[in-house]
Amino acid sequence: MRRTELFLPTLKENPAEAQIVSHRLMLRAGLIRQASAGIYTWLPVGIRVLRKIEQIIREEQDAAGAQEVLMPTIQSADLWRKSGRYDDYGKEMLRIRDRHDREMLYGPTNEELITDVLAQEIRSYRDLPKNLYHIQWKFRDEVRPRFGIMRGREFLMKDNYSFDLDFAGARRSYNRMFVAYLRTYARMGLKAIPMRAETGPIGGDMSHEFIILADTGESEVFCDRALLDLEPPQADVDYSADLQPVVDEWTSHYAASDDKHDPAACDVPDSQLVTARGIEVGHIFYFGTKYSEPLGAVVQGADGERVTLEMGSYGIGVSRLVGGIIEASHDENGIIWPASVAPYAVGLVNLKTGDSACDDSCGELYAFLRSSGIEVLYDDRDERAGQKFADMDLIGLPWQIVIGPRGLKNGSVEVKARGTDQRLELSLEEVRTWATENLAA
Ligand code: ATP
Ligand code: MG
Repeated sequence: MRRTELFLPTLKENPAEAQIVSHRLMLRAGLIRQASAGIYTWLPVGIRVLRKIEQIIREEQDAAGAQEVLMPTIQSADLWRKSGRYDDYGKEMLRIRDRHDREMLYGPTNEELITDVLAQEIRSYRDLPKNLYHIQWKFRDEVRPRFGIMRGREFLMKDNYSFDLDFAGARRSYNRMFVAYLRTYARMGLKAIPMRAETGPIGGDMSHEFIILADTGESEVFCDRALLDLEPPQADVDYSADLQPVVDEWTSHYAASDDKHDPAACDVPDSQLVTARGIEVGHIFYFGTKYSEPLGAVVQGADGERVTLEMGSYGIGVSRLVGGIIEASHDENGIIWPASVAPYAVGLVNLKTGDSACDDSCGELYAFLRSSGIEVLYDDRDERAGQKFADMDLIGLPWQIVIGPRGLKNGSVEVKARGTDQRLELSLEEVRTWATENLAA
């Protein structure tokens, strides 16, 4: 993409309304603009990041055996009356009436809807287990939308729902998601810590929030330093195997947030205890027959008996993750995207637009990168070099290739890593090889 063609409105100054660094940088780097309180438009560079995050989530969900569907944003109030949540949900739910005066709502979550789909279609134990996910916008009329997309009213969530015949099956499904989550966050360059969360009347130990550490997090977290050193499961993890030992390894270490932290119950020595702020980027939850019972998700078991399905639900804050990644990865000059979610793999900086040697070398390299399937943002604007450097740093692409008249005299270009001091001096030939080896998807 040529910078002269791209719709990328950057800001030099920090917007006054933004209190935390990710919100400031998302506005300044032209990722989002506010439409109304807690509701945002995603601009071209922002949506590229969002899509990359979605894609990582999708790949890990698929690998773990979940299947993608797409449920609507608008739901009928009837289903929510059956589960009893229509009244319970309170003011966070956006309620709508259609032209026939039917009560509808903009979904804050999808347990009722997906359970109804299964209840209509599934009859026998042979149809199970099933695990269905979608990536869809949610609306929650938060009392205090804040921190940009971090706590929005409209936000993108990956949510999935598992259906099993019995508790053992539900635990297997839960463990698969637990492992898939660890992998998902790790691929985005994040260290997410699973923390025991409230299970409500269901009880048990099958509810975890996944928290990433960041100074601006909304909750205070306490955890055993050992958790920060655990290696996330590898790509070849066998989801058909018993994953309980993997889950136990992670849950055996102390980790708690705010209200759940009990200094008396914490057996971690002070020197080993990490006290930090955290952002919740996911939540997985087993809730048994809470929805399958009222919505009639029942099948015939192997011996002809009626079995009410055992369910769990699993959420990831997709849009919140964009902010979360920036909180975890930035410096005073701007964003530092991990390569896996970067809007473009590399920025190409023409230090002297209008100089024919610079224009030609940049143009040829740009064409080469594109034909090699490498996502490149080419700053071809007629701007001062300082401005181009500042903008490139702000946008935070992992690599920059800088081409200027002085280097070209010796046939060389500079390659810079964003966020480290790594710099390479390469010839125009070498930079092509380097790019194909390091940047091709
Ligand atoms: P929170 O405690 O932050 O309000 P929650 O418990 O309401 O979260 P869930 O219902 O478990 O959240 O939703 C799954 C995920 O969706 C959360 O882990 C979070 O990452 C994300 N999420 C929830 N509310 C918002 C919001 N208002 N804006 C952006 N992301 C959100
Ligand atoms: Mg909430």
